[in-house]
Amino acid sequence: MPAPVLCQSCGASRAALRRPKTGQALCRGCFVAAFEAEVHSTIVAARLFQPGETVAVGASGGKDSAVLAHLLHLLNERHGYGLRLLLLSVDEGIAGYRDDSLAAVRRYRGRLGLPLHVVSYQELYGWSMDRIARHVGPRNNCTFCGVFRRQALDRGAALVGADKIATGHNADDIAETVLMNVLRGDVGRLRRCAGILTGGEGALPRCKPLKHAYEKEIVLYAYFQGLDYFSTECVYAPNAYRGHARALLKDLEAVRSSTVADLVHSGERLAVREDVRMPTQGICQRCGYLSSQPLCKACVLLEGLNRGLPQLAIGKPSRLQKALTDAEKPEVGFQEDSQQTNKATRTIDF
Ligand code: SF4
Ligand code: ZN
Repeated sequence: MPAPVLCQSCGASRAALRRPKTGQALCRGCFVAAFEAEVHSTIVAARLFQPGETVAVGASGGKDSAVLAHLLHLLNERHGYGLRLLLLSVDEGIAGYRDDSLAAVRRYRGRLGLPLHVVSYQELYGWSMDRIARHVGPRNNCTFCGVFRRQALDRGAALVGADKIATGHNADDIAETVLMNVLRGDVGRLRRCAGILTGGEGALPRCKPLKHAYEKEIVLYAYFQGLDYFSTECVYAPNAYRGHARALLKDLEAVRSSTVADLVHSGERLAVREDVRMPTQGICQRCGYLSSQPLCKACVLLEGLNRGLPQLAIGKPSRLQKALTDAEKPEVGFQEDSQQTNKATRTIDF
């Protein structure tokens, strides 16, 4: 019988895995310690947090946010970050998916003893994703969902008085986003997507403490720590463009194991020339959210849904955005006290 492989870190215990990131054979204890130390070092090196800050941890119920919530809670106590942590979830209104994943969030909320706040699309926008999907059809659901979620997290975090939002984006997510932005030629997003700390200029700062963590290692860490999370894919995911970027990334990774790290690095290094015109940030005339157009993307999408013409609101810039921008403000019937603004002030505490 071949001799058991010993852990290359402690040299005493039997190795339980080969690290996807480094190829090192490690025992369970040394892997867990190395993973935690790396996330701590990412947080410290990038100065992600300041003592006394209130940090809203985006909690979807999936593995990334379950690991993020667990780690921030653990590292905050271990290293005395001095943070007030809370969980913030967005309920998109997707039956059989988000309702079940929110049940996982409620379970780990109980275990970590952190407050949980939930904001829903139904309350913020008057539409659930299931209803949007019935109107929009099988394609483009993620366009609506992504825009609405980004704004919902910001609104939820502002409501609970958070100074910062921490999200569970991992290295694989960022590599996929770099690929997608290169394929779409979206230089504005390309510049932002690989950043570890974004926001500012009026937007709530967002940070990604798991930016350098590989997805496979997050799964291993969650397994070794016995974390409870929800792993079913969203019912609308098969039509998402991201899925194709993910498949391409997996193919590239099969021939070059450093592809994820290479793409994250590329995203950081790709500089936009000084003379490239970047959108100027302003404020949405309707809801007050940050926007480079008179109306933010969420308001344009909502307008398309409410007019029964959702397809007109899709695209960059969309036909509806153009029409609304060209029109005189009173003619498009904007109301100062819009439905969206009113609903944004409501949240549900559990
Ligand atoms: Fe929303 Fe698309 Fe993600 Fe489903 S897969 S939660 S529709 S962004
Ligand atoms: Zn708006």
